[in-house]
Formats: sequence, C-alpha cells, structure tokens
Amino acid sequence: MSDYDVMIIGAGPAGLSCASYAARSGMRTLVLEAGFPGGQVLSLDKVENYPSIKPMEGFALASAFQAQAESFGARIELEGAMSLKKEDGLFCAGDFKAPICVLATGCSRRKLGCKGEEQYTGRGVSYCATCDGPFFKGKKMLVIGGGDSAVQEAIYLSGLTGDLTICHRRATFRAQAALARSLENHHVKTRMNSSVLEIIGDGKKVTAVKFDDLSEESFDAVFIFVGLVPNNDLAKAMGCKLDDIGFVMTDAAMRTSVDGLFAIGDVRNTLFRQIVTASSDGAIAAHFAKQELDSLEGRSYI
Ligand code: NAP
Repeated sequence: MSDYDVMIIGAGPAGLSCASYAARSGMRTLVLEAGFPGGQVLSLDKVENYPSIKPMEGFALASAFQAQAESFGARIELEGAMSLKKEDGLFCAGDFKAPICVLATGCSRRKLGCKGEEQYTGRGVSYCATCDGPFFKGKKMLVIGGGDSAVQEAIYLSGLTGDLTICHRRATFRAQAALARSLENHHVKTRMNSSVLEIIGDGKKVTAVKFDDLSEESFDAVFIFVGLVPNNDLAKAMGCKLDDIGFVMTDAAMRTSVDGLFAIGDVRNTLFRQIVTASSDGAIAAHFAKQELDSLEGRSYI
C-alpha cells in the first residue's frame, strides 16, 4: 500500500502540468522537488511564447503552475529524490512510494570546459543572467553561445549594459529566427565564428577573455549558454534506455523502457524544448499514468 498513486520527480513546467492533470483526474499525486517549484522558468526574466499569456516574469508563471497543481490537490514536497528503486511493485524515493513514477528532472547547463571557467564561476562567470546580471550593471559583459538561451539572455542583459557582446562559434545563430533578429534592436555586438580559449582573471574576478584567434579583450562578466545536459541519474539508476547524449527515450505516451516509469520535459529525448512542449508532455504522461493505474487496479478499459 502507498499513500500516493503517482510520484512525480521534478517541479518544472513538465512536472507541475503532469501534477495538475493527474490530481484533477483523481490520482493521489505527489511532486518531489529539490529546489523551488518552477525549474528553469524561474531564471527567465520574461516569458512571451507560452500560449495565451501576456509577457510575464518567469517567477509569476512558475507560481501559476504551482498554484494550479495544488488547487487540484497535488502535494508538493520540497525534498529531492536522491535515489529511486522499485520494490514490491512500488517506486521508492526515500520514504515516498507510489506504483507509478514520472521523471521530470530536467537538464543542467553544459559547461564550456575552457581554462578559467571553473576558477571564476561565481566571480564573473555565470550561467544565469537574471540571477547575476544585475551585479554587473553598466559593466562590460560577454555572452557565449548561439542557441535560444544565449540570445534570450543576451537580450535581457542588454537592458543592463550598453557594452554587451555575444560570441558564437558559427557564422549564424542556432536560435529561433525571431529571437536572433531581435538582437539587432538591442545594440548587442556580435562576434561570430569565434570561440573562447580562456577566461582570464586577477585571482579574484574575471578581467578578460582570450579567443581562438589569440586576441584578448577585457570583460567584467562572462555568461555561458552552450546547451544542456540531462539530469538522468535516476533514469540511469532505474536502467532506462537513453539516447547517445543521455536523454531518456520514451514512446508517444511518455513511457520509458521501465514498466510504470514515465519521463517528460527536458530530460526526455525530444526535438523541441519549450515550456509549452514540456507542459504537453506532462498532460500526456498523466493521462497514460491514469490508464496504467486503472489497469494495475483491475479497472482496465483497454
Ligand atoms: P542549444 O540549443 O543546444 O544551443 C547551444 C549553443 O551553444 C549552440 O549554438 C552551440 O553551437 C553552442 N555550443 C555548444 N557547445 C559549445 C562549445 N563548447 N563552445 C561554444 N559554443 C558551444 O542550447 P540552449 O540555447 O540552452 O537551448 C536548449 C533548449 O531549450 C533548446 O531546445 C531551445 O530551443 C530551448 N529554449 C527555448 C527558449 C525559448 O523558446 N524562448 C529559450 C531558451 C531555451 P552550435 O550551434 O555550433 O552547435
């Protein structure tokens, strides 16, 4: 016996949408979250491409996701799932147990791996513009990367300084065209076909960056957005099938290769990572989790 029907690990848009749908369908729903509910949305200054909303702060959208899930009866525990196993037909994360489990563990920022990056992290090197940008107001900043994150965060930082450069290793941005185009309106300098070799400092803080043409330029802050790595430790521990990069493989119902275990959102092998696609994953997983529960409890209608 367990207190819950479904245990969702991770409270980003995927996990919280799944919680709303699951709780609303009558499942006793638990969400475990190691940090704050909201996931990466919390670090967004502004969200403008989630359907039906007016542009709003990431924090406000995250709060709305949480409030909706709780209004349907989902319970959110601010406790990380340090391990996951299946015993006697129940998934167990610490003392929490449920017959169905949904992994919504998301991704972390990929490190650039250059000299000086680790030494100066928190001392001029950052992976979150809204968290750290205000510390460098009016200073000289560099953004590294060419995807949606780099461009979106560069647009935010351009509101804090008149001296911002974005450096990308290719001739064109990978980011969605609408985002990349809007860089022009924000007076962001671009440095294309260029890679960073080293982040240089004076021992206490970042002072400059060395590029692959061996030129050096002074900077006060370096923001790195070079992609995501899946938080797949629990999926690995459960023996889920992963793709070559480590994202969890699922079928169209969000089922992993392990019975009763689903995966949704950024940790899943998917082609487009957006708040709306993560939410959609959550709704789909909740629907099929309910079917699975019914079948486990002998109420199968398939
Ligand atoms: P991403 O799309 O994987 O882009 C990573 C960027 O970093 C690429 O331009 C890549 O260059 C570059 N890069 C990777 N390794 C590098 C290295 N060692 N040195 C220099 N550059 C390197 O990652 P992301 O921008 O974090 O986005 C992740 C996902 O979230 C995407 O699916 C994205 O669409 C989504 N997202 C959406 C929004 C939005 O809709 N508003 C906002 C943020 C993120 P190459 O191009 O050469 O590979």
